[in-house]
Amino acid sequence: MTSLHDRHIKPLILAGLNGDNWRLKDYESRGGYQQLRHLINDKVAPDAIIAELKASSLRGRGGAGFPTGLKWSFMPRQFPGQKYLVCNSDEGEPGTFKDRDIMRYNPHALIEGMIIGAYTMGITTGYNYIHGEIWEVYSRFEEALEEARAAGYLGDKILGSEFSFQLHASPGWGAYICGEETALLESLEGKKGQPRFKPPFPASFGLYGKPTTINNTETFAAVPFILAIGGQAYLELGKPNNGGTKIFSISGDVVHPGNYEIPLGTPFAELLKLAGGMRDGIPLKAVIPGGSSSPVVPGAQMMELTMDYDSIAKAGSMLGSGAVIVMNETRCMVRALERLSYFYHEESCGQCTPCREGTGWLWRIVHRIEHGQGRPEDLDLLNDVAANIQGRTICALGDAAAMPVRGMLKHYMDEFVYHVEHKRCLDSAKPL
Ligand code: SF4
Repeated sequence: MTSLHDRHIKPLILAGLNGDNWRLKDYESRGGYQQLRHLINDKVAPDAIIAELKASSLRGRGGAGFPTGLKWSFMPRQFPGQKYLVCNSDEGEPGTFKDRDIMRYNPHALIEGMIIGAYTMGITTGYNYIHGEIWEVYSRFEEALEEARAAGYLGDKILGSEFSFQLHASPGWGAYICGEETALLESLEGKKGQPRFKPPFPASFGLYGKPTTINNTETFAAVPFILAIGGQAYLELGKPNNGGTKIFSISGDVVHPGNYEIPLGTPFAELLKLAGGMRDGIPLKAVIPGGSSSPVVPGAQMMELTMDYDSIAKAGSMLGSGAVIVMNETRCMVRALERLSYFYHEESCGQCTPCREGTGWLWRIVHRIEHGQGRPEDLDLLNDVAANIQGRTICALGDAAAMPVRGMLKHYMDEFVYHVEHKRCLDSAKPL
């Protein structure tokens, strides 16, 4: 598998990256809104659109990886009452920074993708819930919405048809938990952002109790391109069950951290090369391949993997949202885990006991190990607390807090033992 660049394929979603060409006229000059025009003018059947998405093997880009065509097919088109379409742009996981660049550099791709979703599922109202703390991105998205409305792509009787769709932006306030889809819906309704018990799932009981389809920013933004090149062609950009391109946010000890859009199935070594390789030439030690919730993978193993859902899962981790955190061999894994554990402790919504209490336990244990006060029994205790959180909570934050702990202990137990015995980092390691 070669990169997009080697294969002379331009990035699809991040087409405007690093340029000031995000406006409507720029997007139209790249073929933007042509798919929407085609669907409306030729009265394309919704089932045909869903068939293309299924053929493309597009999977949710927010982390869960659920097949998008299948999700869209769940929405009852003929449902007589109000239905909603929601975009989850509340990216807040450490290491993840792709959705803000889509909205910054190519907001109309997201808008067109959402309009196509609304057309396909017969929905008249949608919201894009944008993470707090990135206000300039929010403002830009609002500007793009205004452009789309003025051009007749959004609003009543789109492009002179009988199809109407109102799309609004809604700001979050920075809580990580509001990226969980039911907490997001609660927040959108003006309530405290806490996850709901499931079932019922949003497809039947979503925003204001109405059927709701929620997708990630990158997922929606991919839709116009899939329809433009065809589902099968999009699939073939990647590999079976892992179709198309994916944006990876690569950070940490690399020369050029940033967002890279590459075909799924590209070797990790290729992605590392695109990011300029290891900073200062210090060898690779470990990689967190899919955002802070995904278990760490040792560097040597990572160099053998390809960047797709199935390959990363076989290594005992997850592709998640595609946030790749690269650590060189000087990095202290105890310190890294201490920082991650603090994040989850801080961001727990406090609704269920294993998460509320357990994340605090995890952080305090790792904190004392890192700061020279660890006890030999702490290592078993860490594993035990993590095991008692995992699978026992309302939402996935509990698992997200537990899995990095178990991954670190599995691969780097020697460093934890060293800290307990010597009250300091390995000689080769230093705090992040
Ligand atoms: Fe809240 Fe944590 Fe329970 Fe999720 S797992 S509902 S974040 S307490």
